Amino acid sequence: MSTHEVIGQQHQSGSFANYFKDLYSGITTTVKGMWITFKYVWAVKPVSIEYPEVREVLPERARMRLFNDVQNCISCTQCAMACPVDCIYIASEKLPEGSEIKKTSNGQAIRLKLTQFTIDTALCCYCGLCTTVCPTECLTHSHDYEFSQYTIDAMKYDYLAPDVIAWRDRIVKSSFLKNEKAPKGAFFVSDAFMS
Ligand code: SF4
Ligand code: SF4
Repeated sequence: MSTHEVIGQQHQSGSFANYFKDLYSGITTTVKGMWITFKYVWAVKPVSIEYPEVREVLPERARMRLFNDVQNCISCTQCAMACPVDCIYIASEKLPEGSEIKKTSNGQAIRLKLTQFTIDTALCCYCGLCTTVCPTECLTHSHDYEFSQYTIDAMKYDYLAPDVIAWRDRIVKSSFLKNEKAPKGAFFVSDAFMS
């Protein structure tokens, strides 16, 4: 047998071995892949939900759209000063001479009349710093995350405006009432707003 014939036979037996090796590898990897697929089809709980028909319950301390119970706001501006992105705009004026000094739910005197409390939620990074410094705890994060708008400007919420008050009554009030453990500050939502 010539050297060429020996090399040819070796090559042929090597090809057969590789053929069966590849065949084995092809079958096992397909079975492995299909096993994972079937596991996710039948055995593993789905990770997605059919939003908006289904909504996940957020963690109790989730930080979503900010809510200011303005009747308990003393216009101290501490929240605006703490805000790292300067997205809280507050304006207030002195109460007229001889006005009755009302108190917040936690007994702080309201010496200024709040005339503007706007938060630009397009800038807000939901860090929560403003809520932690608020002395009356009237500023809190609600659980409302469905407030997308068509324009950036529409993301500015004036908490004295009727539409925001309507939002507060519709979303915040109902979610606070549903949760027995309301988020920090929720207890200060005044009865006047809740009626
Ligand atoms: S959550 Fe943070 S970024 Fe948003 S308004 Fe409050 S302090 Fe500013
Ligand atoms: S810190 Fe609280 S009380 Fe002071 S201005 Fe902000 S929301 Fe109002």
